[in-house]
Amino acid sequence: MIIEPFWLDRALESFSIQEWESLCDGCGKCCLHKLEDSQSGRVTYTRVSCQLLDTSVCKCKDYLQRQSKVKDCLQVTPAMAKNGDSLPNTCAYRLIAQGVDLPEWHPLKTGDKASTVKQGKSVANRVLSEIYVHPDGLDEHVISWVKA
Ligand code: SF4
Ligand code: SF4
Repeated sequence: MIIEPFWLDRALESFSIQEWESLCDGCGKCCLHKLEDSQSGRVTYTRVSCQLLDTSVCKCKDYLQRQSKVKDCLQVTPAMAKNGDSLPNTCAYRLIAQGVDLPEWHPLKTGDKASTVKQGKSVANRVLSEIYVHPDGLDEHVISWVKA
């Protein structure tokens, strides 16, 4: 199904809830733990995910209740998308906030909700759950393929 590119040239605040939700590509990068250097403020991502992420299919196991279960689960807002700091640099919301079009593999362009995973653009099968990692050991799992 061809979807008209409703996301172009729009104010972020003008999207309906449904449109806003559909902008997420489902990459799962925002479900990874990050580390911030106390001196420089530099943020690095780790390959350690929130325990609610199903790491093989890259889906939240309890999306509707996620915010009551995981206190730092992000509810992306227009302000957050514009600021960008708390989201990875490939996040669809950041792209839209910068006036950049969505990539060709985005589900809204392919018409396939699984296209992000199928085309290797998600964290599926590349990360491990926090249940297997001691919180003090996160620095052993820093990755460079997700950037702040
Ligand atoms: S609760 Fe779900 S959406 Fe939120 S960070 Fe965890 S896996 Fe991701
Ligand atoms: S990083 Fe952005 S596009 Fe990827 S899952 Fe998180 S909110 Fe969606």
